[in-house]
Amino acid sequence: MKFELPPLPYPKEALAPAISPRTVDIHFEKHHRGYMEKLEKAIGGKPLANEELEDILRKTDGQEFNLAAQVWNHTFYWMSLRPDGGGEPPAEIADALSRDFGDVSQFRKELAEAATGEFGSGWAWLIQRDSGELAVISSSDAENPLTSGANPLLTIDVWEHAYYLDYQNDRGAYVRAVIDSLLNWDCVAQRLRSREAGRKAS
Ligand code: MN
Repeated sequence: MKFELPPLPYPKEALAPAISPRTVDIHFEKHHRGYMEKLEKAIGGKPLANEELEDILRKTDGQEFNLAAQVWNHTFYWMSLRPDGGGEPPAEIADALSRDFGDVSQFRKELAEAATGEFGSGWAWLIQRDSGELAVISSSDAENPLTSGANPLLTIDVWEHAYYLDYQNDRGAYVRAVIDSLLNWDCVAQRLRSREAGRKAS
């Protein structure tokens, strides 16, 4: 892998008012970049460093796993958000969500509960299980659904650094703002399609 962060997919002010430019700046430049720098220090020059990031996080544990997973999780978090996001998903996603959650509003409710209810630092995810079924889960610290064979479709970072400057202790308000105005359905569609393509090819 290259020890370089992909650029943010939008300007740092683009997620306001749900997430302030200052939060995006510190989150990306200090936290996300910090994980990448520590990962390079930990594995740079080792054979492991020649692997892709997804393979590194599948093959490691302890601190190496934590750093690799946090780099992946954050890159995916930025992709999971977009300015003027949220709203109604496109038909193919709405159909899949209705199939597995009952309806789209029930999905939103379960995602908000998982994100708000995760105790301590972690992530809330929409995933696709190996069976094809969609599900909402939360994970603790750096844990990542790839390690259990699931396909991550969307994530919300619920570490305090993701919201504390903007919302202080009110994680629920941050989660509601993200779900209502920033969720990137294109990310979900892309991940669903790449899983489909991978299945047809194999
Ligand atoms: Mn974070």
